[in-house]
Amino acid sequence: MNAPSAERIACIECDLLVQVGELHGGQRAACPRCGNTLTAPAPDGLTRTLAFALGACVLLLAANAFPFLALEAKGLEQVMTLPRTAVELYRDGYATLAVLVLGPIIGIPALMLATMLALLVPIRRRVRAPWLVPAGRLLFLLSPWSMVEVFVIGVLVSLVKIGAMASVVLGISFWAYVGFAVCFTASLSSLDRFEIWREIEACTA
Ligand SMILES: [Zn+2]
Repeated sequence: MNAPSAERIACIECDLLVQVGELHGGQRAACPRCGNTLTAPAPDGLTRTLAFALGACVLLLAANAFPFLALEAKGLEQVMTLPRTAVELYRDGYATLAVLVLGPIIGIPALMLATMLALLVPIRRRVRAPWLVPAGRLLFLLSPWSMVEVFVIGVLVSLVKIGAMASVVLGISFWAYVGFAVCFTASLSSLDRFEIWREIEACTA
């Protein structure tokens, strides 16, 4: 099943409908009114997204399974893991804060990864799956709420502050999370919204 040679895309910045022809690897279509990139399919973009998403899944599991960091001050040591952070906040009566903290850094990225796998595996195998359209909608609905890179920068800034009060030992989970953030961001940057919808259309037509 071949995609049509010219299709219309609505610019998400200014709502202009633009007729876009078939693009080849490395080409980019920009909105003539506001200059926003409409689509920029990378060569093997879907394969790259899937590979980075699988890597991100493994690293996210590792990030939740090992100590994130250990603090040592006056002979006392406190080891923290990411899930334990949420449990401690919940125990202290901050249930909403626990959800607000762990949602954008673990919950939403994990849901996005599951959605990406649910989309990309059937698309790659050209299998008509009934969940492709809702999964596509969910993925692009969730993407603004993922704050993985914000969290990494926040942790690095707070480490400078905490380092003055206690000695900090970075755990395996910290490095796993940094690797996860890199893979997750790379998988999202290889994901082209227009290309995904065109592939979904080709699978469900
Ligand atoms: Zn525009």
